[in-house]
Order: sequence, then structure tokens, then C-alpha cells
Amino acid sequence: MAPWAATLLITSLLLLLSSVTYSSSFSRPHRICIIGSGIAGSSAAHFLHDLGKSTFSPNSLPIEILIFEKRGRVGGRMATVSIGGDTFEAGGTILHPKNFHALNFTSLLNLSTTTGRDDDGVDDGWFGIWDGERFVLETIPQGKSFISKQIARLWNTVTLFRRYGFSLIRMQRFVQGMLESFLRYYEKDRPVFSSVEEMLKWAGLYSLTQRTLREELDDAGLSSLLISELVTVITRINYGQDVSISGLAGAVSLAGSGGGLWSVEGGNWQLAAGLINNTNASLHLHEEIVSVSNHGDYYELNSTQENSYHCEVALVATPLDEVRINFSPPVTLPKRSTQHTYATFVRGFLNPEYFGLSPSSEIPDLVATLEVKGLPFSSVSVLKRYSDKDKTYKIFSRAPISDELLDKLFSVRSDTRMINWPAYPHYVVPEVFAPFMLDQSHLYYINAFESAASTIETSAVAAENVARLILSRLSSSAHVGSRSGELQGVGPENLHVDL
Ligand SMILES: Cc1cc2nc3c(=O)[nH]c(=O)nc-3n(C[C@H](O)[C@H](O)[C@H](O)COP(=O)(O)OP(=O)(O)OC[C@H]3O[C@@H](n4cnc5c(N)ncnc54)[C@H](O)[C@@H]3O)c2cc1C
Repeated sequence: MAPWAATLLITSLLLLLSSVTYSSSFSRPHRICIIGSGIAGSSAAHFLHDLGKSTFSPNSLPIEILIFEKRGRVGGRMATVSIGGDTFEAGGTILHPKNFHALNFTSLLNLSTTTGRDDDGVDDGWFGIWDGERFVLETIPQGKSFISKQIARLWNTVTLFRRYGFSLIRMQRFVQGMLESFLRYYEKDRPVFSSVEEMLKWAGLYSLTQRTLREELDDAGLSSLLISELVTVITRINYGQDVSISGLAGAVSLAGSGGGLWSVEGGNWQLAAGLINNTNASLHLHEEIVSVSNHGDYYELNSTQENSYHCEVALVATPLDEVRINFSPPVTLPKRSTQHTYATFVRGFLNPEYFGLSPSSEIPDLVATLEVKGLPFSSVSVLKRYSDKDKTYKIFSRAPISDELLDKLFSVRSDTRMINWPAYPHYVVPEVFAPFMLDQSHLYYINAFESAASTIETSAVAAENVARLILSRLSSSAHVGSRSGELQGVGPENLHVDL
């Protein structure tokens, strides 16, 4: 064969081969690998599955979702604990009445909600603030009858008002302002955000992440007594930290102490389980991802099971602060430390003498503590009352509670469980945010948003935005040409394709 004929033949073969590769790559489903099966990972799977249908229709390019979970269960920080024959929320517990994603998931999955705790004999309105030596404030129990409830509510309102005055109303206004801004994330025509800063600025929430809660509340005209007492006990309970957390984390924390709070009956983890189930994602339990390598047009994920997965998109849905995943090329994140919270569950009876009371005295169902050096716990609350002297309690603390202390705190203790949670970021202002996009290709990080606030709902809101970001970038690359070529070529200017 003449040399020119051989060259022509080889060129034609190469062209043919490249067109085969091109068309097969185009008809391949978009394989999206999600690391973490908490609410961030599961809701991202849900939104990708749901929004993906409309993004790529009518010749819908299917999305294939793989979820990797290092534990043997889904839900992450939404988990239950069994103690004394009953099951309780051990991590993320309360949801706000305006947590619309969580509400939608609950109804989509036909789950039931629970609000009041009256059935368990627990009095939600009965609390005391303990400074290590005495109760600086105590409300009264509401009782069972309608009349006693009304009287107690009135009494407690007057008690709070006498101590904190109009500052209480200013506090409510502050929380309301944050909530109204946050509600913008449910607006239909909102943009897709490529960074946390952009997302927060758009809703008018960014400035709240740059100053402390104390500074924000001082400016809002709250008395220093309210800030150092009621506000402080709330941030200690919700984030294990004091009022030096950011104004946004603080406002979110205060919103979590209002009325109408709810949980999923039987455990919030069912949100993650149901969402994953609904998306037909392939779930890999007990499979920890140890490395993620960018190979140009795909990522290689390697797991502790010594498996290797090739994924077009890699989505990190877990905080990277204490998780060791080896990224190649390496990713650089702003330093963020984790606030550990110890949740200790005890079935028994709290000792009134620990609080300087006579053995027959009653202790409020929630004892919340002030920011006093050496105070060993943030709160003790009753989860269930079996009888007057047999209850299940939950204690939050920043450090483990020793057996010795538990023996002083409880006069009776039949069962104890302690969980050490890498719970939420340790909030430091001005907050600096990690990127949603860890590289210029398709490596994403939902939990960058946790530096703004860490809740079940904020994880879902961030997950929805990241899902839309992924789909908008995938769809814009699919429109222009070969996916493999485009994935590297899509720059930040192309990101605002709304779905
Ligand atoms: C004690 C406590 C109380 C709380 N109270 C509330 C509350 O009342 N209301 C509220 O809204 N929020 C609350 N929160 C916060 C809320 O639970 C979290 O913000 C939310 O659940 C975070 O979800 P996530 O999916 O982002 O992360 P996670 O739930 O942490 O999920 C990450 C998942 O990734 C897995 N994982 C990690 N690394 C790897 C790897 N390399 N490979 C595979 N899998 C991996 C983990 O095992 C985990 O399952 C609380 C949290 C704690 C700890």
C-alpha cells in the first residue's frame, strides 16, 4: 500500500474511533458520586434526581447517582440512640416551622411529625438558668389542665418580661429579620450561586457572618443581661458555644428556641433514608472514600474496600475539617475547627442536692447553664418521664462527663450512653468560607455552607443550590459540545444558568 493510502486509512480509523468514543461518552449517564449520606448528601441526591429530569429532558440524559457512606447507616448527624428501652434523637433534633425543605421531604416520604412532648410528661416551658451556684431564673411548670397551662404561660411571660423587658421583643425582631432573609432561598426565581459568599450576600445575610452575635445584639438594642443569660444559654445548647459566634449562627440558634418546633416521628434520619431510596441511588454503606483524583474528564474515587470508581462529578457532603480524604491535585480550604459536643443520655433521677436544693425539691425539665468557667455541662433536659423519680435525660457538654460527676449529678442512674459528636463548626468571625467548587471541573463541597450555620435545613438549602450548580454546568457543557472537553472549559462566567 502506498504510504499516503496508509496515512489516509489510519486517519480515517482514528476519526471513526474518536466519533465512537464521542458518541458513547455522550450517551453515557452522568455519573455523580456523593461522599456522605447525611441530609446534605441525601437531599443533593434528591434534587439532582428531581431537577435532573427537567434539565435534560426531553432526550433525558440519565443521571446515575452513587452514594458512599463510611458508616453502616445513613443520616450522619441525624441519628437516634436507644436507652432504657426507648429511642431518642441523639444529634439533629428540632426543625423550625419554616424549614420548608424538611417539611416537603416529610410529606413526600409520608412521614409523620411530632411537636409537643406532653405525651412523655415533659413540660416544654419549664426551665431554669443555673450559674453554678444558684438558679438565676426559673419558670414554673405548666401542669396538665388547660387552665393551669394558661396561668403558667402568663406567669412565665411576666417573669421573663420583668427580667429582660423590651429587649425580648428586640430579640424577636432580630430573629424575624434573619428568617425573612433566609426565606428568599425558597423563591422560585433565585439564581444559582457559585460561592457561599455570593449566596449569603444575595439574601442579605453575609454581614451577619462577619460580626459576633454579641455585637449584632448590642446594636439591636438588647440589654447585656439578656445577652449574657437567655441568649447565651440558647447558643450553648444549640452550638456548644457562647455569644462570640457569628450573628448568623446566633440568629439561627435563637430561631431554634421559638414555638412550633418539630421532628420526624421515629427519627429525623428517615429523611435521609427515604430521599436516598426515592432516587434509586446506589448506596455503598461501610465504604469510606479515602482519595479523590482528578483525571481530566473523570474523577477516580478510591475506598477503604479497595474499590475504585470513575465519576464525572464528585460531591463532598461531609465537613472536611476532621475527615481525611486525599485530593489529587490537593485542595486548599480555609482553616475551620470543629466544635465537639458530648451528648450523654441517662436514665435515672437528677439529684436536687447537686443544685443546692432539698432532696424533695423539683428541678426544671430543662436546666440551662451560663458561660461560667468550670461549669461542666451546657444543659440537662428531661426527654421522657416514666414516673416522678424515673426519667430519661439528655446532657450536652463540651467535654466528656466523668462517671464521678454523673454520680454526683444523679441520685439514681440505671443506664448511661455518651456520644462524642464532631458536631458543628467552631464559629469564629469574620467567617471565611470554603468554595462550593473545589476545582474548576466538577468537584463540589456542600458543607462549605456550614460556616454560615449548621442545621438540617441549611444543609438541604446548600445541597439544593449545589445540585442546581452541577446541573447548570453539566447542561451548559452538554449543549456546547463534547462533555469531556467542556467540563474543564466551563468557567465561573457560565455558572449562572438558572434551572
Ligand atoms: C448534637 C447535635 C445536635 C444538633 N441539633 C440540631 C437541631 O436540633 N436541629 C438542626 O437542624 N440541626 C441540628 N444539628 C446539626 C445537624 O445535625 C447537622 O447540621 C446536619 O445533620 C449535617 O448534615 P450533613 O449531611 O451536612 O453532614 P453529616 O450528617 O455529618 O453527614 C456526613 C456523612 O458523611 C459520612 N462520611 C464522612 N466522611 C466520609 C468518607 N470519607 N467516605 C464516606 N462517608 C463519609 C459520615 O459518616 C456522615 O454520615 C445538631 C448536630 C449535633 C451533632
